[in-house]
Amino acid sequence: MRLVFLGPPGSGKGTQARMVGERLGIPQVSTGDILREAVMLGTDIGRKAKSYMEGGKLVPDEIMLSLVKRRIEEPDCSGGFVLDGFPRTLAQALGLEEILQSAAQSIDAVILIDTSDEVVLKRLSRRRVCPQCKALYNLEADPPEADQLCDRCGVELILRTDDSERTVATRLNVYRKDTLPVVEYYESKGVLRKVDGSREIEQVLSSIMEEISEVRKS
Ligand code: AMP
Repeated sequence: MRLVFLGPPGSGKGTQARMVGERLGIPQVSTGDILREAVMLGTDIGRKAKSYMEGGKLVPDEIMLSLVKRRIEEPDCSGGFVLDGFPRTLAQALGLEEILQSAAQSIDAVILIDTSDEVVLKRLSRRRVCPQCKALYNLEADPPEADQLCDRCGVELILRTDDSERTVATRLNVYRKDTLPVVEYYESKGVLRKVDGSREIEQVLSSIMEEISEVRKS
């Protein structure tokens, strides 16, 4: 299956995309993770993307499209993928369609994890990440066993640089301005399925799996 997960920052789309990918046996393709790794490694793309990411702005479409094209052409994506954090602009959505069309493929479903600003702001201020294995924690809902240390690596957890209050506000504005048109686009094509992202992780997951099984039946 070829799936797209949409939702504001902090909607839990990364966590859900990973779990759904594991259940379906297809890779989660997170553009945020790919970019963060590129920044860490200091690659060409990483150097170009760094300042956009730190400011909560979008990395230019051309960079994103070539990055995603390369990734989804890798052999592990031949049986499908869960796109997490992409497309974020209408130009990216149209570019993705072209890439898929040229391989006689299409998106099977787009899942919108609908989450209010209030929930998002609360979640992001409590979100922590392991700098080593990238595991995500929430200090309230899903805390590590030892205070502020990763359960797997024992490394001290950090707040993502773009989770600071001011950058989160920018990211939410960017979402409204650039990504809501993508939501509307997929809605008009009849492939959008909404789930309420303000609930517990397991509840959201089971709603998503229900939506996916409906898509499979149709
Ligand atoms: P995320 O982890 O999905 O919240 O992404 C973190 C940051 O990476 C975003 O705030 C953007 O700066 C950048 N980014 C990730 N995906 C995209 C995309 N599809 N288009 C443009 N920028 C992106």
